[in-house]
Amino acid sequence: MSSIDQLFNNTEFVGRHIGPSDQDTRQMLQTVGAADLHDLMQQTIPANIFRTEPLALNQAENEAQTLKRLKAIASENILNTNYIGMGYYPTHTPPVILRNVFENPGWYTAYTPYQPEIAQGRLEALINFQQMVMDLTAMPLANASLLDEATAAAEAMAMSHRVVKKNKSNAYFVDQNCHPQTIAVLTTRAHHFGFELIVGDIFTDLENENVFGALIQYPDTRGSASDLTEVISKAHDKNAIVTVATDLLALCLLKPPGEMDADIVIGNSQRFGVPMGFGGPHAAFFACKEAYKRALPGRIIGVSKDSNGQMAYRMALQTREQHIRREKATSNICTSQALLAIMASCYAVYHGPQGLKRIAERVHQLTCATAKALNNAGITTNQTAFDTLSLAAADQTDRLYQAALDSGINLRHTDDETLGISFNEETTVDDLTALFAVFGLSSEALDSQITDAVSLIPADLQRQSEFLQHEIFNCYHSETEMLRYLKRLENKDVTLTHSMIPLGSCTMKLNATAEMIPVTWPEFANMHPFAPEAQTRGYQKMLDELHDMLVVCTGYDAVSLQPNAGSQGEYAGLLAIKSYLESQGQYERNICLIPSSAHGTNPASAAMVGMKVVITKCDADGNVDIDDLKDKIAQHRDNIACIMVTYPSTHGVFEEGITEICEIVHEAGGQVYVDGANLNAIVGVAAPGKFGADVSHLNLHKTFAIPHGGGGPGMGPIGVKSHLSPFLPGNPLDDAETNTVSAARFGSAGILPISWAYIHMMGSIGMRSATEIAILNANYISQRLKSVYPILYTGQNGRVAHECIVDIRPIKEATGISEEDIAKRLMDFGFHGPTMSFPVAGTLMIEPTESESKAELDRFCDSMIAIYEEIMKVKEGIWTLEDNPLVNAPHTHESLMTDSWDHLYTREEAAYPLASLRHNKYWPPVGRIDNVYGDRNLFCACPSIDDYTD
Ligand SMILES: *Cc1c(COP(=O)(O)O)cnc(C)c1O
Repeated sequence: MSSIDQLFNNTEFVGRHIGPSDQDTRQMLQTVGAADLHDLMQQTIPANIFRTEPLALNQAENEAQTLKRLKAIASENILNTNYIGMGYYPTHTPPVILRNVFENPGWYTAYTPYQPEIAQGRLEALINFQQMVMDLTAMPLANASLLDEATAAAEAMAMSHRVVKKNKSNAYFVDQNCHPQTIAVLTTRAHHFGFELIVGDIFTDLENENVFGALIQYPDTRGSASDLTEVISKAHDKNAIVTVATDLLALCLLKPPGEMDADIVIGNSQRFGVPMGFGGPHAAFFACKEAYKRALPGRIIGVSKDSNGQMAYRMALQTREQHIRREKATSNICTSQALLAIMASCYAVYHGPQGLKRIAERVHQLTCATAKALNNAGITTNQTAFDTLSLAAADQTDRLYQAALDSGINLRHTDDETLGISFNEETTVDDLTALFAVFGLSSEALDSQITDAVSLIPADLQRQSEFLQHEIFNCYHSETEMLRYLKRLENKDVTLTHSMIPLGSCTMKLNATAEMIPVTWPEFANMHPFAPEAQTRGYQKMLDELHDMLVVCTGYDAVSLQPNAGSQGEYAGLLAIKSYLESQGQYERNICLIPSSAHGTNPASAAMVGMKVVITKCDADGNVDIDDLKDKIAQHRDNIACIMVTYPSTHGVFEEGITEICEIVHEAGGQVYVDGANLNAIVGVAAPGKFGADVSHLNLHKTFAIPHGGGGPGMGPIGVKSHLSPFLPGNPLDDAETNTVSAARFGSAGILPISWAYIHMMGSIGMRSATEIAILNANYISQRLKSVYPILYTGQNGRVAHECIVDIRPIKEATGISEEDIAKRLMDFGFHGPTMSFPVAGTLMIEPTESESKAELDRFCDSMIAIYEEIMKVKEGIWTLEDNPLVNAPHTHESLMTDSWDHLYTREEAAYPLASLRHNKYWPPVGRIDNVYGDRNLFCACPSIDDYTD
C-alpha cells in the first residue's frame, strides 16, 4: 500500500507543463544522439558556464496546492472602496468580455499579429480600439496601444521633439497638475534625452518659456477641466507641440482635445472594463494629427486587401519600428498592451455611445451631488469637474482621511491641506451614503440630491459632437450578439489553442490555466496601485517571493519588477548602467556596443538613454566576432559604457566566448548587459548573474509563462548585480527617487501571479527540466529538418540552444520560393509560421519550447517536410513559380469552393496537403495580404460595413 503522501503527487504539474512524456524523451534523445538529458546539456552548454547545483527554489506543488497557497496570500490584500483616482478607477468588466476575452486562451495566447492572415480577429478588435480613441479624442489617427499613460506621455515628448519645426528649444513644459507618476516618468526620460523639464502652471507660466512642447492634463489630476483652446493656440504661436493627457470616459461629456487643436492626445483606457490590477496591465492610447503619422510610436493597424481583392487588416507602417529602423526607430516599444486594448474596445462595442454616455453621466452626477453637499457644509471644491473633487480640507485633512479609512474608504491624500475624491462606474448610492457619513453630510433624499445637482461642466466645455457612430459600436448590445461577435473574431485567429507557435525568440510556451486563474481574483484584480501599504500586504508578499525566485533563477543580487515589457527592461537596465557610471565620475562613457545580430529593441533602447551605438560584427559561425569586438574597444576604449549581448544568442547557439566577452568589456571599464529574452534556454543550467553579466531583463511573457495576449501584456523585470541596485527604477510617487520607468511601482503587477504560480508549481527540478526539454525539443526539430533545410548556425558538437534557424536562401536561389511563401503555406497546415528573417534575412527561426509534445513536433516537422516536397515540385517544373500552392498560400475556403478552378494543383492538394488535416482543419479567413498597398493607401479606422461585402 502507498502512503497517502505518495498518492498525492506534488510534481504532477511539471509533467503537464512539459510536453514530451518520459518515453518520448527517450526516443527523442536517441534521435538526437544523446545518452540522457545531462549528456545533452554537457554537449550543448559551454563547460565554463554550466551549473549543476540545483536551483534554491521550493519543491514543486501541484495546481490545487498552489492555488490554495496563493489564495491565502491574496486574501491578505484589503479591498477598500476606492476614490483615489489619479488615472486608475474601479470598473465593471462586462462578464461576456471577462469570460470570452480576458479569461479565454483563444484570445490571450495569441502572438503579435505579424502574420496578419491568421490574426484578422484581433486586428479587427484593435482597429476598433483605434476608432474608439479617434472618436472620443476627436483626433484623425491613433495607434493600437502603448504601455501606460506615463510612458505614452514620455513618447509624446520624444515625438514632439522629432516633429517640431522652426523651434530650437531643448525644454519641455509639463503642467504641474499632470498626474505625479506621469511627471516622474517624464523626468527620467527628459534627463537622459538631455531635455530640460519645466514643471509649472500652464495658464500662467508657459508664456514666459521657450519650449518645444508642452503636456497638459485634461481634466487635470485635481479634477478641474478648462478650455485649452487658447493655451494651445498660444503654444502654437511659439511653434511648440501640445500634448493633452485625457480620460476617455470624461470625453463622453467633455469637449474633446481634438476640437481644441491639440497635436497629440494620450491617456489610459483602463476604466473601459480593465481591472486596476495594482497598476496594470492596461492599454494606454496615443492619437495625433495626420501630419505626424510616420513619427507615431507603437503599432498601428491598417486596412489593406488580400490576394482575392478582399479587404483585410494588417499592421501598417512597420518600417517605423525598431526591427528596421534600429537606433533611429520612433520608439523602442515592441510588446505593448494588445489584449487590454481589445478589452477596452470590446467594452465600447458592447456599451455603444449611449451606454458610455450613461455611465459617464452617472459618474458625473455623483460628483456634482457630492460637490454640492460638501459646499453646503462649508468645504470648498473645484469649480469645474467631471469625476474628481479636490477638497480644501485644511487642518481637517488628516482627520478626515483617517475617518474615511476607518470606514473602509480610500480617499486621495493629495497634500497636507487637500483630499481628493474620484468617482467611478462602480460607485453606488450606498457608497455615497457611507462617504457622506465620513464628512458628516446628510444623505437624506439622496436620490433627489443626485438628480438635482447642477453640472460642473461649463456650457462651452460640454461635448457637442457625436462619437462612436460607426456601425460596429451600434449593433452588438445584446449579450447574445456580443458573444457571437467575440466568438466570430476569435475563430479567425490561430493561437496556442490550435497548434504550436514556433516563433523563435518569442518562447510561446504553455500559459497554464491554473496560472491564469488568480489574475481575475478580485483580491488581485481590484487593487488600486496607490492604495495604502497596509492594504496591499498580500501583493507585497507575492511580489517579494517572486523577486526572490527570480534572483535564484538568474543569479543576480536584486530584481526590479517595474518595467512593463522587455524593451522597458532594456531601458531601465541601461539607465542603471548610466547612473552607475556617472556615480563613478565616468561621464565620458557613452558608447553601447551591440552585435549585429541583436534584436531591434537593443539599439532603440540605447538611443533612448542617449548612448551612441557601435555595431560589432558576427563571425561565420554567427558568434560575436571577438577580434572585431577587441578592435572596437581599442578604438573607443575610454568611452565604452557597455555591451548589450543576447545569451544564448539570437542565432540560437550557446556562444563559447561569452565569459571572455564579459571579461574584455569589464577590463575596458564597461558594463555587460545580457538581453535575457532567451532565458528559457538557461534557467537552472547557467545564470547570467554568475557568468559575468551585470544586468539583464527577463521577458516574463516568454520564459515565465505570462501569455503574449496578441501583442501584450508583458513584463520585463531586470536583474542586477549589487553595484547597480541603487540605480534600479524608483517609486513613481516618491520625489526623492530616480530612474522611474513606469506609472506604477510594480509595473503590471496584476499579471505577476502568473509567473509566481509557474515557478511555484515547477519547483527547482521542474524549472531545470523545462530548460532541458526546451533544448531537447529544439535539437530534435533541427535533427529532423536538417536534411532538407540547412541549419544556419550550431554551437559545440553541432548542437543548437532552445531554437534553430533554418536557412531558406539556398532554396530561394534555386527555386524562387521564399521564406515568406513557406510561412504562408504553413497556415494551410494550421500552423503559425516561425520568426521570419530575424536575425538573418531569408531565414526562419524555430523555437518549440518545452511545452510541445513529440506528437506536435512531429506534426510540425511533417508539415515542413511536406512543404519541402512541394518546393521540389516547383524546382522540377511540375508546378510553375507563378502557380503553385506555396505562392498562392494561404488558401481560403472561399477561394477553393469555386466552380472554376484553373490552377496547376488540385483543390485537395491546396486544402489537405497532409491526410491528418481532413480531421482537424483551420481555414485562413483571408488570402495573402498586400502590405505595400496598405501602406500606400493608409487607412487606419474602421472601414464602412459596405467594404466587407464589395
Ligand atoms: C522579445 C525580445 C525583446 C523585446 O521584448 P518586448 O517584451 O517585446 O519589449 C528584446 N530582445 C529579444 C532578443 C527578444 O526576443
